[in-house]
Amino acid sequence: MKEFHCKRCGFCCKGNSTVGLSEEEIQRIADFLSLSKEEFLREYTLRKGTNRVEMKIKDGYCIFYDKKRKRCKIHPVKPEKCKEWPFTPAIFQDEENFLIIKSSCLGLKEFTFEDITNFKVDKNQKKL
Ligand code: SF4
Ligand code: SF4
Repeated sequence: MKEFHCKRCGFCCKGNSTVGLSEEEIQRIADFLSLSKEEFLREYTLRKGTNRVEMKIKDGYCIFYDKKRKRCKIHPVKPEKCKEWPFTPAIFQDEENFLIIKSSCLGLKEFTFEDITNFKVDKNQKKL
């Protein structure tokens, strides 16, 4: 069975928005940074709409993306959606979804949809 290796291309941390943060994730990241929840929210996040809290964007990337070292600065406590990528529920649903996600993630370059259907997700896999 193929193993997934993140190529640190940074695509999943790039863009105009990030994943939304749950209350638990907010507290977990704030603790990791030794900040109060309020300080963390003020310095690192923005609110979208009434309920959604996202991480700020800096120079086209999530504020926690370290461009130089090509890694996540909060790796041990990163949001669940970040840990999950690229193995979102959608990638297992059909080949079209798989191909869209594959085109965005260098780590999937050698994968076929058949590989994905046999793939077992290891949440502790090495990622940036
Ligand atoms: S928290 Fe880390 S893994 Fe998630 S988008 Fe930001 S830099 Fe990338
Ligand atoms: S998980 Fe995929 S998209 Fe994200 S940095 Fe690794 S190879 Fe690139």
